[in-house]
Amino acid sequence: MRWLQYRINHRILGTNTLLKKMNIRDNENCSFCNNFPETLCYLFWDCNIVKHFVMEVHQWLMSSIPYLNFELSKKTFLFGCPQLNIPCNDIILLLKYYIYRCKLMGGFLNLNAFQNHVKSLIVTEQFVATCIQLVKLDTFTKVWQDFIRLRVNCFELLFFPYATFQIQYMLKINLLVLCHKIRS
Ligand SMILES: [Zn+2]
Repeated sequence: MRWLQYRINHRILGTNTLLKKMNIRDNENCSFCNNFPETLCYLFWDCNIVKHFVMEVHQWLMSSIPYLNFELSKKTFLFGCPQLNIPCNDIILLLKYYIYRCKLMGGFLNLNAFQNHVKSLIVTEQFVATCIQLVKLDTFTKVWQDFIRLRVNCFELLFFPYATFQIQYMLKINLLVLCHKIRS
């Protein structure tokens, strides 16, 4: 996902406006609404469909995480915000990646699908923290403690799109946490 932020920062992401300038596309209009030229700002913020979706995700986060309170502006959303904590910045980056992927695949922006991506991100972060180095689990817990509630629960895991993959991960995590607890 970091490559996406790099391309946004350097204004070299393949928006329709840029692709038209390079004679790769004929239509420079927005992939979601087809109303205005798809510049970087338009794709990630100015488009009404995208902005509505970003606000929906923002609302979901604010209502799910206690004491979480942050405003989103065009600048914060496009370039991230040093004042925001790691989970928020990571989720914002994931959201931009999701929007860009939907643009490329011609898909619709779907809150439920994006929520699954966030859950997957948290499970992966936890897996990396647990399996790569056990001490890092404390760091993970400290950084993500408020967001862990968004992670899939055991019941949801059965119906999760990446179920088999995730179940394997979760079993490993639980086993390692158990070993860690026994040892300490
Ligand atoms: Zn649009």
